[in-house]
Amino acid sequence: MDTDLVILGGGPAGLTAGMYAARARIPLIILERGQTGGQMAATATVDNYPGFTDPIFGAELAERMETQARKFGVTIQYGDVQSIERKTQGFTVSLESADPLQCQAIIIATGASPVKLGIPGELDLAGKGVSYCAVCDGPFFQGFDVAVVGGGDSAVEEAVYLTRFAGTVHIIHRRDDLRACKEIQEKALAEPRIVVHWSTIPVEIIGDGEVKGIRIRSVKTGQEETLSVGGVFFYVGLRPNSEPFRHLVETDSAGFVLTDQDMNCSNPGLFAAGDIRVKTLRQISTAIGDGAIAAYSAQHYLEKLPR
Ligand code: FAD
Ligand code: NAP
Repeated sequence: MDTDLVILGGGPAGLTAGMYAARARIPLIILERGQTGGQMAATATVDNYPGFTDPIFGAELAERMETQARKFGVTIQYGDVQSIERKTQGFTVSLESADPLQCQAIIIATGASPVKLGIPGELDLAGKGVSYCAVCDGPFFQGFDVAVVGGGDSAVEEAVYLTRFAGTVHIIHRRDDLRACKEIQEKALAEPRIVVHWSTIPVEIIGDGEVKGIRIRSVKTGQEETLSVGGVFFYVGLRPNSEPFRHLVETDSAGFVLTDQDMNCSNPGLFAAGDIRVKTLRQISTAIGDGAIAAYSAQHYLEKLPR
């Protein structure tokens, strides 16, 4: 065995699971394919993480969690997990460009990624004005008008963030009511540079090599309008990063993983934590709670294995 425990994903759930497992003296490796901190690291400011009375940058919170995990001896290896297979003893974790790892137990904390609508122009212009991350790309839109698609916490919160750079920020939302929590809504609706286009959907991103506009349609009247914008940010929900292990665990129809309250998956030795789970509230605070419980359950599972 290369190690006892492998944790897939170095977001808040994975880093917390790593910290708890390391403090229990379990040999472990966190595998992360992108940026440590996951979605949290790509969040502008976090207002609702207990203990921080002033907003903290998502990237700073991510760095603090990583530093704390490393302080307790957590090893983070960068690599994209391609698949997991069960062996007679334990599991094999295959990586895109590294040797496979053998381990006794796995905590799945691969989180979720932005949904792509796939409307004309969206994928062609991705990285050329179409973005899924305001924190990463917002500063490129200094002085431009931009559109944000969606009405959830992400869309509305990131629209407020984009007012730091952009001229007008157009929110394109398919209903007459925002899904975002009231506190976030109030901030956005009080911002004079945010214009909400109620009951509208995006139908095409216009541009040739760079975004020039977005065509939107009223879902009530069918009337279409083109807004002249230099950037379009999509926040239309999340899809689970569950491809490498979907064949091994029970999921819902969207691919989110089902666990019991101790984070056990349907297959012994596999645990899941954070946004990858079927759950009602996807937050940093709930991801870290899941991570702590998953590590505790993995510890008990490992202790019972014959040595
Ligand atoms: P993630 O953060 O998604 O981390 C999963 C990690 O797994 C990622 O780093 C990913 O690269 C890695 N991974 C995935 N697949 C693989 C693979 N195959 N191989 C290796 N690594 C892999 N929550 C709050 O509480 N407050 C906020 O203010 C807030 N703001 C948000 C703003 C935005 C724009 C968004 C999108 C989310 C926000 N959230 C906020 C939600 C919060 O960020 C998530 O609930 C939280 O990050 C989930 O943590 P996680 O560890 O489960 O998953
Ligand atoms: P979300 O809550 O699923 O919201 C997605 C939004 O996109 C909804 O407004 C939805 O409209 C819209 N939408 C979905 N499909 C669409 C389509 N085909 N065409 C047009 N619009 C479409 O996703 P999210 O905002 O990314 O949030 C994900 C999770 O992260 C949530 O649990 C959220 O609470 C959490 N989060 C928390 C914070 C925070 O605490 N500050 C910040 C960001 C995210 P409808 O409303 O009509 O369904």
